[in-house]
This record gives sequence, C-alpha cells and structure tokens, in this order.
Amino acid sequence: MHLTGVATIAYDSLLALVYPEACAVCNGSVESRALGVTCADCWQQTHIFTGTETICWKCGLPSLGNVPDEKREEVRCRLCDADAFAAARACGVYEGALRASILALKHSPHVCGRLVELLSETQTRSPLHRATRIVPVPLHPEREQARGFNQAAVIGRALSRASGLPCDEVSLIRSHHTDRHRAGMDAKDRRATVAEAFLVSYPALVADERVLLVDDVFTTGATVSSCAKVLLAAGAAEVFVLTIARPVRY
Ligand SMILES: [Zn+2]
Ligand SMILES: [Zn+2]
Repeated sequence: MHLTGVATIAYDSLLALVYPEACAVCNGSVESRALGVTCADCWQQTHIFTGTETICWKCGLPSLGNVPDEKREEVRCRLCDADAFAAARACGVYEGALRASILALKHSPHVCGRLVELLSETQTRSPLHRATRIVPVPLHPEREQARGFNQAAVIGRALSRASGLPCDEVSLIRSHHTDRHRAGMDAKDRRATVAEAFLVSYPALVADERVLLVDDVFTTGATVSSCAKVLLAAGAAEVFVLTIARPVRY
C-alpha cells in the first residue's frame, strides 16, 4: 500500500488512536492511554511515594532511616527552615515515568489518568488534605505565550476536576521576567531574583484560604517559597505545595 502526503498523516493519526505511541522511556508499547507517555513496566519501576516513608515533614525530602509513626511529623531536614510554605509533597522521584510525563507536559497540555490519580492520592494525605484552593505557579506571560499554555495550570485544572477544589489562576501573577539560566548566579542570587517575581493581584480571593500551590517539579523550593511568601502576606492562612516529582536530594 502506498500512502503519501495528507493520506500518510491521516493514516498515522488513525494508527496513533488505535495503537498508542512508543513508551518515552523504553520504546516499548504503551498499553493504555491512561498511562500517558510511558508503559506499565516503566511506571512500575518509577519510585512513587506511598505516604508511609520517612520524609522531612516540611519539604518532603526523603530521609534515611525510620522513625516511629507518632514522630513522623517532627522529622525536618533543616535545609528548608527558611522556606515560607507549610509543607511540600511530590507524587514521586524525578525519574522514569514521572520525568517523562513532566517533559511531555512541556509540549502537550494533557495530564494522563495515572498522573491525575497520583496527584489526587498525594493531595488527600496529611497535611495537604487541609487545602481549600489550588493555585498554579504562574509562568511569565512571555514564556506562556511562547509555549501556548502554563503546564502548572494544566496540572491544577486536572487536580481541580478530580478533587473538587477550585483552581484559581488569577490571584497569583508574575511581576517581571526571571532569567533562570543566567550564568554566574549562585543559589542566593537566584533566590533574590525569584523573590521579586510574584505578586498577588486579588488578595480577597486568597485571604484565610489554605492554598495548594501546584507545579510540575520541585527543585530547590525557591520558586514555591517566593510564591508562598506573597500569598501569606496577602492573607492566606497556610500554603502547601504539590508537584509531580522531586529529586531525592537538593
Ligand atoms: Zn516503558
Ligand atoms: Zn526539609
């Protein structure tokens, strides 16, 4: 069969509907659309947090060793002491299926069923279960225009549909551009730059709310801490953070 041009494209998209694309990690076949861009095996091999591991109760950093259940909430890494959020959690480690899902989300505004499930599960665990309002970390308008969407807002809307919590995309905005890749900036300089990058445009919407900041990945915590700071200054009662993934160390 010879197919050319438009016919080939039409045929390919029909095939893509019937047979999902190859797994973004191992190139194997993806068994179901709900799995997103990776196969069931790759999901299996990705470190997903169960909610029972010993972590820094504030920033979610996995820590070695075990503590008795009644002491879990007292565990702190101390690296996050200065951060303004009350608690940050991720669905799992930045690797395998979670890493591939985050990269895919930069090109296509879609959160697969498996990921929605994981985000919902993580959100219903203490202390994030106290959240009353979802606020996606805003992209700078120029970057959002270039990409066509804000991936954090895509995650926020998906979680909103699953959890029933409102997704508020208007309260928190970026006030000016931050150049993330500027050479020669140390962590402190970067912190100072992002600190000026956010402001709350509708304080009444976040007053007394327990805000759940949502983003794709938690790295140093500097960005979400800056967001938390302005939200708290605007009257938010507490600020939590939920991301798809985080590295196992800073
Ligand atoms: Zn795979
Ligand atoms: Zn910590």
